[in-house]
Amino acid sequence: MAPMAATPFRRRAANLSFGNTFSSPSLPLHYLMSYKIVLLPGDGIGPEIVSAAVEVLKKIGTLCGHSFTFETHLIGGIAIDQTGNPLPDETVAACKASDAILLGAVGGPKWDDPSAKVRPEQGLLGIRKALSLFANLRPIKPFEELLDASPLKREIVEGTDILFFRELTGDVYFGESGRYGSGKEETAFQQMIYSVGEVERVVRLAAAAARTRKNHLTSVDKANVLEPSRLWRQTAARVMKEEFPDVKYDVVLVDAMAMFLIQRPRDFDVIVTANLFGDILTDEASMLPGSLGMLPSASIGDGGPGLYEPIHGSAPDIAGKGVANPLATILAAAMMLRHSLKLEDAALKIEAAVRQVLADGLRTADIARGKPSLNTKQMLDAVLERLK
Ligand code: NAD
Repeated sequence: MAPMAATPFRRRAANLSFGNTFSSPSLPLHYLMSYKIVLLPGDGIGPEIVSAAVEVLKKIGTLCGHSFTFETHLIGGIAIDQTGNPLPDETVAACKASDAILLGAVGGPKWDDPSAKVRPEQGLLGIRKALSLFANLRPIKPFEELLDASPLKREIVEGTDILFFRELTGDVYFGESGRYGSGKEETAFQQMIYSVGEVERVVRLAAAAARTRKNHLTSVDKANVLEPSRLWRQTAARVMKEEFPDVKYDVVLVDAMAMFLIQRPRDFDVIVTANLFGDILTDEASMLPGSLGMLPSASIGDGGPGLYEPIHGSAPDIAGKGVANPLATILAAAMMLRHSLKLEDAALKIEAAVRQVLADGLRTADIARGKPSLNTKQMLDAVLERLK
């Protein structure tokens, strides 16, 4: 699947690289392509899982003859602690100059004060905005070996293969907000906002992805109630009619989709939806495979670097204990190879190694269901051993 065919990426010669350069010594220099990866480990388990994914990237570099340079920068709570800013200017500049970005997670109880003016999540929203990352891709494809970990019955989940496209730059997250009045009259508002251009570009990406899969796109909205949804529906229908007449296209209301996802998830291929609905639906869908620790996601735009991360948070309850499941971040690194660097072979090798680890019965605690489990390092070693 290569939905981001239009996403350009930069390649640099190995001898222009800097920082922690890693390359295969056994291959001639001219054969090597060098890719500049910015690492944003963030908070909680972020540093543990990102460093595991880096080891996997180094090994795949050796196997496939690619060279990666890694530069680590601040984001989130740790950036607030060190600079007072959840997204320092240096981080934005480094990300803009990179080929792709691998992020751990941001946030934690230390920065949870809801009245705080500066919050870790601002780093995440800010970097998406700064890089014009307007589409969040979340594949929902449960591993056969983990089907029994799903809260749903095997016969409902088995065979599910959905790719979500959640719009990232519009909606209530970026509309005006405020409060007025006092006492019982105190009122809060948050504007829901979408433009035609914002809808067009994400629908185009999603429809192009559908063409490489089962050729079926479902758009989710709330057009029976909300004006921005009516604009969304009208625009999506036009784009599909004019540019993708060959793609099967349907529309589902968000409340119905919330039900269909747990009733008949197999019926969907690619789903495109607005920022708020996507936020909720993708978290709901992430329960289908049974573990947060297994799911990667990507945020991409029309050009420039994409940002890749696990969908889970910073897991402060297990941070620093060395037991976090690194597989979602390792799979995010595979997505990065596929979508931003166009290294499909390398991505497939990583995904095969993860599948093999699971087939061999190896589990971290979050997916072990009380049975004996591996720690982060042991799980990383198991993946590295199977990476061929
Ligand atoms: P969480 O995803 O961090 O944790 C939920 C549960 O899943 C916890 O019990 C945790 O231990 C477990 N878990 C998550 N990832 C795991 C992994 N890789 N291996 C093993 N177990 C794992 O969600 P939360 O507890 O609601 O949020 C914690 C913090 O993370 C909050 O500050 C929240 O704002 C932040 N957060 C950040 C992101 C992000 O950076 N993209 C996303 C969600 C939440």
